[in-house]
Amino acid sequence: MLNLKNIFKDYISGNLSVRALKGVNLAFRQKEFVAILGPSGCGKTTLLNIIGGLDEYSHGDLVIDGKSTKKFNDHDWDTYRNHRVGFVFQTYNLIAHQSILSNVELSLTLSGISKGERRKRAVEALTKVGLADQINKKPNQLSGGQMQRVAIARAIVNNPHIILADEPTGALDTETSVQVLEILKNISKDHLVIMVTHNPELAKRYATRIIRLLDGEVQSDSNPLNEEEVQMLEEEVKNYQRLVAENKVGKEKRVGMSLKTAFMLSLNNLLTKKGRTILTAFAGSIGIIGIALILSLSSGFQNYISRVEEETLSSYPITIETVSTDLNSLANLKEADKTERDDQHVYSNDVLTTIITAMASSFSENDLKTFKTYLDENKEKFEPLVTDIQYIYDVDLNIYKSNYETKLECLNPYSLSENLSPYTRPYLASFDSMMQRADVWQELIGNQEFLESQYQLAAGAWPTTDNEVVLVMDKDNGIADYLLYAIGLREASEIDELIIRTVGGDTTPFESESYEYEDILGLTYRVASSVDYYEKQADGSYVDKHDDAAFVKQVLIDKGFDLKISGIVKPAEDASSNVLRGAIAYSPKLSTRLIDYANASQLLTDQRNSPNKYLLTGEAIEDATA
Ligand code: ADP
Ligand code: MG
Repeated sequence: MLNLKNIFKDYISGNLSVRALKGVNLAFRQKEFVAILGPSGCGKTTLLNIIGGLDEYSHGDLVIDGKSTKKFNDHDWDTYRNHRVGFVFQTYNLIAHQSILSNVELSLTLSGISKGERRKRAVEALTKVGLADQINKKPNQLSGGQMQRVAIARAIVNNPHIILADEPTGALDTETSVQVLEILKNISKDHLVIMVTHNPELAKRYATRIIRLLDGEVQSDSNPLNEEEVQMLEEEVKNYQRLVAENKVGKEKRVGMSLKTAFMLSLNNLLTKKGRTILTAFAGSIGIIGIALILSLSSGFQNYISRVEEETLSSYPITIETVSTDLNSLANLKEADKTERDDQHVYSNDVLTTIITAMASSFSENDLKTFKTYLDENKEKFEPLVTDIQYIYDVDLNIYKSNYETKLECLNPYSLSENLSPYTRPYLASFDSMMQRADVWQELIGNQEFLESQYQLAAGAWPTTDNEVVLVMDKDNGIADYLLYAIGLREASEIDELIIRTVGGDTTPFESESYEYEDILGLTYRVASSVDYYEKQADGSYVDKHDDAAFVKQVLIDKGFDLKISGIVKPAEDASSNVLRGAIAYSPKLSTRLIDYANASQLLTDQRNSPNKYLLTGEAIEDATA
């Protein structure tokens, strides 16, 4: 059951504060049809958003099945919103160029359910709202009432316990409103439906309970919980506390979340720098095929073609990721129909929304484990065809500056703004996200011959061991200054000085820095394995000590190892490939070493012996085979 205890909500903007809810106490049954009535501005939407986890309360508590949400983190709220609640709004928020079936299916795409099952459930949901025969229509071929029914199907397809509807009939005439309410009433037979409405007649006819709000307070409640039900609420809290005491509850099921995160990441990549290279590669590959076809007609160009192929594919290698989206879905996007536009309106060109939906619908998981076995078993077949096959694992590289015993400075992952004074930090905060995408540290590909055809040594030697790295310059011996901070050659405090000076009106630039090869060769860094950041407790669980500087320092001393710059490289004269985009490149042997180290650690041994619980988070593992 859902229990709101003394909920307050203040909206604060600048020094203005609006108290939208003033101590709301309400409990809801597992199954009922609640209508919330009240004048505009009395807090109805605010209340609904708080119940649905779309907005945070300022004071009070929302208790879900006996569990307080006071300590919920983002992940908990995500899980609640995704698995427990379905939303229906006054505006239908349907995607115009997709069929209504796809619209309903889309909300399942990120939940890790197979395509066939998604379709089946979407059809079921659309059947429930009486639209089984319309599933292939586009939203603009439907009436308002029908569109709202699609929105309801979308809200229930995940099978949530709670349906929240904010003025779902606000834009409909009475006749179609009735259809929508019939459907909601039907759903309320085995769900909790909470609906905000302006229409008291319809509320009276359909709802089993009417709550009136006035000025942020509950004015009346036609059917509050009886004594027995209040008793049940208290039982739920006790039950939950007992489960906690017995260590039987972890957080809710994680299925789908990691997929969702992965999707968001790949979307983010697509829209940012990394992504653009993917798109360029994609466009490029079409281009290459075209050129190759034409040129292959005239003999003698064969060498040229294979060189272009080699160079292009090393800049834009074929990558296969755990989660992939079919870029063909982007290639097939059609431009919106603009013929119906008139000169009286401003129109939205749906770029972002179209990309998101196209990607979401082609989103799938790859079985990389099996694929790797296949590649390994057919080594002889692939080796002549490729320059290198590189396996990139999600190995965290934790790198510190060599003077870690006196001053702990983390270089990877690096945050420039964290190394600035609090006064200058805000000026460069946005720079950090750019830095994070810069891939300062990068793994070398395994084909040494190919590397040497594309890069020349300016000094020192290529890495031969797992703890040797090379510094990568551009063809004019340059490295961007922001990379120099991240590899510890320059001090971030200079930036402090520069900003303070510049803001003070002195705009003479810094003198440009240069370094002797000799001073760079032999520079060292300290590496820690991520597993060593976790400290084992007496009860067998592990605690994350990332942020404990003294602890990290001791880890670096006891268990860390040094990386050494063994060489300085730059692109070869006639190379057009730029496989090495970072500032420092390390041997694939380093990744292997870190993986082997982690595998042999106490933490992973303990985790392997504990198939039902994540030791780092205490969460239950629902599906032991996953
Ligand atoms: P209703 O849905 O009943 O019309 P709302 O819940 O939308 O009312 O709003 C309740 C009060 O809170 C109103 O005074 C409104 O102006 C204020 N309010 C709502 N949202 C915000 C916001 N994001 N920032 C500031 N004030 C808000
Ligand atoms: Mg409202």
